[in-house]
Amino acid sequence: MEKNTLNWPATDTHAHLYWEDYVEPVEEILARAEAENVGTILVPGTNLETSARVAALVGQYPNLYGAAGIHPSDVKETDETGYLEELERLLSQPKMVAVGEIGLDYYWDKSFTEKQKRFFHQQLQLALRLKKPVIIHNRNSDDDLIQILTEYAGTGLTGVFHCFSGDRPFLEKALKTGFYISIAGPVTFKNSKLKEILPYLPLGRLLTETDAPFLSPHPFRGKRNEPAYVTLVTRFLAGQYQVTEADINRNVTFNTWKLFGIGKKPEPVTTYPIGHNLYINLTNRCSADCVFCDRKDNATIQGYNLKIDREPTADEILSQIPDPSAYREFVFCGYGEPTIRLEELKKIASVLKAKGATIRVNTNGHGNLIHKRNILPELQGLVDKISISLNSLDETEYNSVMRLPAGKGFYQGMIQFARDARSVIPEVTMSVVAPLDADVSDYRRFAEEETGVRFRHRPLDFL
Ligand code: SF4
Ligand SMILES: [Zn+2]
Repeated sequence: MEKNTLNWPATDTHAHLYWEDYVEPVEEILARAEAENVGTILVPGTNLETSARVAALVGQYPNLYGAAGIHPSDVKETDETGYLEELERLLSQPKMVAVGEIGLDYYWDKSFTEKQKRFFHQQLQLALRLKKPVIIHNRNSDDDLIQILTEYAGTGLTGVFHCFSGDRPFLEKALKTGFYISIAGPVTFKNSKLKEILPYLPLGRLLTETDAPFLSPHPFRGKRNEPAYVTLVTRFLAGQYQVTEADINRNVTFNTWKLFGIGKKPEPVTTYPIGHNLYINLTNRCSADCVFCDRKDNATIQGYNLKIDREPTADEILSQIPDPSAYREFVFCGYGEPTIRLEELKKIASVLKAKGATIRVNTNGHGNLIHKRNILPELQGLVDKISISLNSLDETEYNSVMRLPAGKGFYQGMIQFARDARSVIPEVTMSVVAPLDADVSDYRRFAEEETGVRFRHRPLDFL
C-alpha cells in the first residue's frame, strides 16, 4: 500500500500550446509550468492542421497529451470529405487521448449551424467508435448541445464541458450527461457568477484548465495565458470549496485518469488526508449494502482509492501517523463500517488520544447490532465525536435504500445508538447527504428534537 503524497501536481486539461501567441520555445512554457508544480497538460486541436501539430508535439514531452478535432468555428473552412479519416489517423497515436475540441458555437457566426451540428455528430460517432472521450466547446448553444448529447445517452460516450460558463440549471443538465466539468480562469474574475455554481459541482466531476493562451485568470486577466497559471485556478477553487490545493489537485488528477486514461489508478490507502483531517480506512466490510455505495465497485472518494485487498492492523495504521499533532481530527471513515473492527479502532484511538488527538467515528450506527452488545461504553474517553448516517426517516425506505433485511431492527437500532451515544460521547451528530439546496428540515427536526443530537447536512462528495 502506498503512502499518500501531499504534493499533488496541478493539471491543465486544455492548453493550445501551438498558438501563434507563443513566440518562445515550448520548453520555456513547460519549464514555468513545472516550476509551479503543474503536471499533466492536455493540448486539444482545433482543425486538421493544428491537430497534426498536437500529435507531433505530444510525442516529444512526457507530460503532454493531445486531442484531435474540428472546433465549431473551424467547421466552415473544413472539407467534409476525408476529414474524419485524417482525425482517426492522428488519434491512432498513443498519446492522443480524446476527440476535441468539438461542439457548437453560435456566438461568432450563425450562418453554418447545420454544418456545425453535422460535424459535431460525426465526431461524436468517431469518438464512440474509437472509445475515446470528447472535449466539448459550447458558446451560446446550450439547448442544441444538451439535446444532441442526450441523444447519445446510454451509448457510453463520455467527455468534458471545457471552460464551463453555464448557470445552475445548465450545470444540472450537464451533470446529467455524466460528463465532467472543467473550470478555467474566468472563475477568478471579480464579478464572475461562475463561483455560485461551485457548491453544486461535486469534486468527483471537476477538471481544471487554462484554455491558454486565452482567458488568463486574475491577476493576469487580459494578458496571455499559459499552463503555469492553472495553479491560480486551483488555488481559487480550494478557497471556494474550503479544501486544500492538494485536495483539488488530487481529485482532478484522479478525474483526469478516469476520463482520459492518463496516469494510473491510485494505489489503495488506509490513511488519507483531506483538508486538515486524517481519515482512517479500516475495512471494506459493512452491515449494509446501500444502493448508492461505491464499496463493491471502485470504492474511491475524493481521488483516493479505498479498496483495500487486506485490512490493516492497528500498528500498521499507527506507523503511518508519526506526528498526530499535524491533524485537526482523526476520522474513522471509509467504504465500510469501522465499528466492525472495534478492537483495532479502540487501540488506534487510545494511542492517538493519549497524544492529545481528537477522534471522530463516521458510522452507520449498527455497531451494537453487529456486536450484539452495547459497545458505546467501550468508546467512552476514546472517541470525541460520532457521526451517524441518517439515510431515511422511514423504516421501509431505510431498509430498501441500505438493502437491509426487514424485521431485524436496523432502523430502530441506529436511532437507539444515537440516543445512547449522547451520554458517553461528547458530540453526536446525525448526518444526511443531499444536494446543498435540498429541503432537509424534517431530518433536522428528527435529529435535534426527537433524538436530541446535532444535525449536519452534507452536500454530495464531502465527508
Ligand atoms: S453504510 Fe456506508 S459503507 Fe456501508 S454500504 Fe452504506 S454507504 Fe456503503
Ligand atoms: Zn480551446
